[in-house]
Parts: sequence; structure tokens; C-alpha cells
Amino acid sequence: MFKADVIIVGAGPVGCVLANKIATELNLSCLIIEKRNHIAGNCYDEKNKKGVLYHKYGPHYLRFKNNKIFEYLSKFTKWIPGNYIVQSFVDKKLYPFPINLNTLEKFFNIKFKSKKEAIDFIKKKQIKNKSLNNSEDFILSKLGTEIYEKFYKNYTIKQWGVSPKKLSSTVAGRVPIRYDRNPYYVKEKLKFMPRQGFTLMFKKMITNKKIKLSLNTDFFKIRKQIKYNKFLIYTGTPDKFFNYKYGKLDWRSLAFKFETYKKNLIQNSVQYNFPNDFKFTRKVEIKHVTRQKIPFTVISKEFPKSKGEPYYPIINKNNLNKFSKYEKLIKKVENKNVFFEGRLAQYKYFNTDEVIERALNLFKILKKKYKNNSNN
Ligand SMILES: Cc1cc2nc3c(=O)[nH]c(=O)nc-3n(C[C@H](O)[C@H](O)[C@H](O)COP(=O)(O)OP(=O)(O)OC[C@H]3O[C@@H](n4cnc5c(N)ncnc54)[C@H](O)[C@@H]3O)c2cc1C
Repeated sequence: MFKADVIIVGAGPVGCVLANKIATELNLSCLIIEKRNHIAGNCYDEKNKKGVLYHKYGPHYLRFKNNKIFEYLSKFTKWIPGNYIVQSFVDKKLYPFPINLNTLEKFFNIKFKSKKEAIDFIKKKQIKNKSLNNSEDFILSKLGTEIYEKFYKNYTIKQWGVSPKKLSSTVAGRVPIRYDRNPYYVKEKLKFMPRQGFTLMFKKMITNKKIKLSLNTDFFKIRKQIKYNKFLIYTGTPDKFFNYKYGKLDWRSLAFKFETYKKNLIQNSVQYNFPNDFKFTRKVEIKHVTRQKIPFTVISKEFPKSKGEPYYPIINKNNLNKFSKYEKLIKKVENKNVFFEGRLAQYKYFNTDEVIERALNLFKILKKKYKNNSNN
């Protein structure tokens, strides 16, 4: 029997944050059920045999839209500045990415005297006479054909397995386009990494004696043995929870290949994108970000694929339509004290700071609802 006041399915960021808040502020017992053999969800990092800290599920560049989330996490970790610099490998040269003034100058071999001069130059290249609903038309309307073809088109095809024409403009629109020389990958000013890694930060959250953890336990294999006194939080995929009543939701997956080298560093920044060469999309040397002092380094290569672990929701009409039906069921089970949260359960790509904010907001609701009948 898997029994507690609160059962939490998934020991990812959402599961750990909610367990922490529920145990410490509501004084309720929590049992976290996790199918993998570790906590921290996709933020999981660990040291390999040579002692190199690496990100098992792709690089996680932590940044914060909201200062309060940074303050909350600061209770569990010290920080190092987020050194997230990405370059794109195009025609055998490395260019700053996202596109900025340096990229434009290097690519077009022009020295712009001002930001305005660069904007005017690009304006002449923009192709505006198309609808802006898809990623291809969106980038053509912002940067024109040459940049689109060299930096975006093939990368998007590799990443998603479909033409950018078939993807919503929000996919390409996630990457900023800059007319200054800001080299950082993300737009947020607050960018920090947990000094000793993500896993230790999340581990600290769940050290409370009221929190128990059951690893290597798939919720669907023990569903009938579960008993909760108060409520259940579910952070897995919604279609499976409801026995695929409205069909399967599609996800894009990735395979990671890790290579260890006896070298201090190999690349000159954390990430190189390969839009036009090789089968992998990016090569990441996470040591630029973790800043470990160790004579070895790890390079990871990412190969997108359609089957496997669910990493990125595929946002198209069909999937959104299906998910909106599941959303109605999600709303209904709240009456049975079951709450869905996180990037799998909400079928939406969220960054880590965003899911943590959502988990804290959900806690506020749960606190109101269950505070009076907790064991306090
Ligand atoms: C490749 C990649 C790169 C990313 N890069 C960044 C980045 O640079 N910066 C950033 O801020 N965010 C990044 N993210 C997003 C970040 O990983 C998520 O926002 C965060 O992990 C979401 O937390 P979560 O708890 O909702 O889900 P998850 O981290 O997915 O955790 C859910 C947990 O639930 C478990 N689970 C699921 N089903 C079951 C079940 N049936 N039984 C038991 N356990 C179950 C899973 O095993 C998992 O451990 C990236 C994500 C991916 C996929």
C-alpha cells in the first residue's frame, strides 16, 4: 500500500517544490512516487565516472523572469552566474546566436555604424507579403531569406522533423533577434546556476521527515494500491492518466550521446548549434556553465527523434484540440482532490522557473483549501 496525506506523482521540480511546501507549511505527510531512479526530473545532473558534472536530459540554462522565484530557490542553493553563450556553425564559421549585431556584421561582412543602419539594412531583406502564422514566414518577415536559410530552416527541420512552414510562429518566435551586441542566449537579466548542481538543490527541498520518496515506481503500475487522506498531485502526461480517452498527445523526443575527454575545455562556449551539418542539432559542453575545476570535460550531442521520452509538446491544431478535451477532465478530477501541474501534465513547454512559479501558485490554492483540516 502507498499511503500518505498527500501523494505526489513525479519527483521533478514541481513535485519537489510542492512536497517541500506541503510538508513544511501544512505539516502533512507526503509520498513522492517517481518512475526514474532519481529525483529532479529533467533538470537532473550527476557526476560521471571522471567526476564531471553533466546534465543528463540536455543543458538546463536556469534564468528567472520573477525575482521571487530566485529568492525562493536561494533557500536551497548558492549560485554561480549563468554563462550561457551559444554559437551557430554556418559555412565552417561560428556565429553568435541568437542573431545579434555581431552576427549580422560577420555574416554580411559589413561594419554597421549604428543600430539604425543595421535595422535599415535588414528591412530591405524582410519578406512581408506572407501570413505570419508559421515559423518560416515569421523569420522571413524579420530577417529575410539568407539568414533564414542558413540559421533557421534546417535546424528547425532537424529539431521538429517537419518544415518550419508547418510550425506555429511561436516556435521560431521564442528565440530573440537583437540589434545590439548582447551575447547571452536568454533575455532574462537574472541568470544563475545552482552552484553544486540542480539535483542537490532539489534534494535539499525534500529532506523534511514528513516527505517519503519511492523511486523506480511507476504510478500506473501501483495505481490501485494508492491511498491519500487529502489530495494527489500528478505531474505526468494527461492522456495516460485518462487511459487515452481522446487519443495520444504527440511529443518530440531526443537521444543524447555523451563523450568524455581528458581536456580542460574543448569548445569556446557552452553550446554550438549545427543547423546544416551532422544529424545532431547541438553540441554542448556544460562545463562552461558549471565552471567545475577538473581536468576532464563532457560533450553531449542531441539527436531529435519522434519516439521516446516526452520532451517537447508538439503544438499543432490536432494536439491542442485533444488537450483541450483532457483539460475538461482535469478540471473535473479536482473535485476528487486530484491536481495536475507541470510541463507534462499541462502539455506546455515551460522553463524551470515558470513551472516552479506555477507550483507555488498551486500551493497557495491548496493551502486555502486544506489548511483548516490539516493536522496542525
Ligand atoms: C531537452 C530539454 C532542455 C531544457 N532546457 C531548459 C533550460 O535551458 N532552462 C530551463 O529553465 N528549462 C529547461 N527545460 C525545461 C525543464 O526541464 C522543465 O521546465 C522542468 O523540468 C519541468 O518540471 P516538471 O516537474 O514539470 O517535469 P519533469 O522535470 O519532467 O518531471 C516530471 C517527473 O515525473 C515523473 N513521472 C512522469 N510520469 C510518471 C509516472 N507515471 N509515475 C512516476 N513518475 C512519473 C518523471 O519521471 C519526471 O521525473 C528543458 C527541458 C528539456 C526537455
